[in-house]
Amino acid sequence: MNSEVLMVDLKGQYKRLKTELDQAALEVIAGGWYIGGTPVKEFSEALANYHGIDHVTTCGNGTDALQIALMALGIKPGDEVIVPSFTYIASAEVIALLGATPVFVDVDASNFNIDAEKIKEAISSKTKAVIVVHLYGQCADMEEILKLTDEHGIPVIEDGAQSIGADYLFSDQRIMKSGAIGTIGCTSFFPTKNLGAYGDGGAIMTKNSDLAEKIKMISNHGQRKKYYHEVLGVNSRLDTLQAAILNVKIKYLNDFIDRRRVAAGHYDHLLTEASGVSIPQRMEYSTHAFHQYTLILDPNFDRDTIKEKLASKGVPSMVYYPCPQHLQKGFVDNGINVGDLSNSVKLSNSVLSLPMHTELTEAQIQYICHTLLEVLNNEG
Ligand SMILES: *Cc1c(COP(=O)(O)O)cnc(C)c1O
Repeated sequence: MNSEVLMVDLKGQYKRLKTELDQAALEVIAGGWYIGGTPVKEFSEALANYHGIDHVTTCGNGTDALQIALMALGIKPGDEVIVPSFTYIASAEVIALLGATPVFVDVDASNFNIDAEKIKEAISSKTKAVIVVHLYGQCADMEEILKLTDEHGIPVIEDGAQSIGADYLFSDQRIMKSGAIGTIGCTSFFPTKNLGAYGDGGAIMTKNSDLAEKIKMISNHGQRKKYYHEVLGVNSRLDTLQAAILNVKIKYLNDFIDRRRVAAGHYDHLLTEASGVSIPQRMEYSTHAFHQYTLILDPNFDRDTIKEKLASKGVPSMVYYPCPQHLQKGFVDNGINVGDLSNSVKLSNSVLSLPMHTELTEAQIQYICHTLLEVLNNEG
């Protein structure tokens, strides 16, 4: 290997786009306007355009986006919000922070996502929303989920922090972007996400203009008119500097995703026959934005040992996530578990993510796969 294999290569991507990014950032710094302004407005429009949706409000980060979405839906103490247990903590944390109850359900072990059946079992008279997470970049089965939630009049928040750019295909051939399908879509511009800023950032999108108005107000101290606060809100905004960076990067978002897909294609090809790891199911109803390339390790392997051996040969790997949310200490007294959550537990113990970013070369992927197969053979 003539270049170090990295889990994520933000510097490499920056170098490729340096001229444009430097210019955009320096313009903001020299311009003297650091909060709001033209770059934020332009980025909101570009993001709305990309998703084919009318209303986008940018905010401070993806976690804030989820919290503001719940606040706009009027979620309050005593309400229940259904969420998958196998996800990043942010998806569930915001529910409990508002005094509402996260209701944890299991995910499908073959594709990591929540499905309508699991949601159905968890619906009660207190259910006020469902948060669907499109984990690792592949959409959950939104058509089935929306059929069920529409029947019950329950709004759906999409946690699209990992899935920006993925397309969902409905049975009538309509195609919608992840985040533009449910009642409200949330995403994150954390640096390592598919559309990453050079700091924190997030966005909230909706087709519903009343909700859009509330979202805008809540994210800005509950005010429509300066110093007149109609509701309780928060202070959550995307920096002008980050918006300028994102205005450059959004033009390359499809290219970034293509690069991730090419890398995933090489991995799939080299690992299909591997014994000891399995490749999760790729669903026909969704394209995959490959925020992560995640495998399932056979339970007879010790994952920590595999990780260590890989690392000793220069192959980084990560576990997203080692503990399901229903077992996190903070939720033990605040959440409700519905049904059997064994897939979430099993996946937490067996998933392994390999390097995935826009700068991976085919040679690097060959080395990663060759090393993984060798380690699995020696340990098996
Ligand atoms: C990253 C992430 C978030 C939170 O985004 P931040 O910008 O870090 O607050 C929420 N949900 C999921 C699934 C994520 O991966």
